[in-house]
Amino acid sequence: MTTSEQNPTLIEELTYCAVHPDRETGLQCNKCGRYMCVDCAVRTPVGYRCRECVRGIEDKFFNARPSDGMIVFAVCSVLGIVAGFLIRLVPFLLFAILLAAPAGGAISEAALRLTGRRRGRQTAIIAAAGTAVGCLAPLLVTLLLRGRLVPDISLLLFAAIATAAVFGRFKMRI
Ligand SMILES: [Zn+2]
Ligand SMILES: [Zn+2]
Repeated sequence: MTTSEQNPTLIEELTYCAVHPDRETGLQCNKCGRYMCVDCAVRTPVGYRCRECVRGIEDKFFNARPSDGMIVFAVCSVLGIVAGFLIRLVPFLLFAILLAAPAGGAISEAALRLTGRRRGRQTAIIAAAGTAVGCLAPLLVTLLLRGRLVPDISLLLFAAIATAAVFGRFKMRI
């Protein structure tokens, strides 16, 4: 009697990146389980995840409506005009510097409230642009009307600091 010996060869199954089928990898997304190469893996506080899962989490955070961008720009530019106007009434450089960050905070708070604190990927840039345009409106108007730029160091510094404050506030995830 001959015993037919079974010879089970253990073939280790090779796994490949879901995006790059030519790249062998053993790394898996800890949310959806797909295989991903080092280029596709994103390191998060809860482990490695694929780009799509990371994007999905961001989309839940970024819930802005299409009209929000316009509202944010309008609020920031109008309040920027008001703030810039008030700063020009008090022509002291120190005041402009000291009041810029609180003014930026107030502008961003108003914009956040009016849009239900919803935000999109571009909201911080839209808000910063609105603030800068608003604060610098007097300079822009003189530039358009007279064709020359009247340098106003106080207003320029005020606009720069307020714009940075608005941008920073919108980048904060609260
Ligand atoms: Zn995933
Ligand atoms: Zn890949």
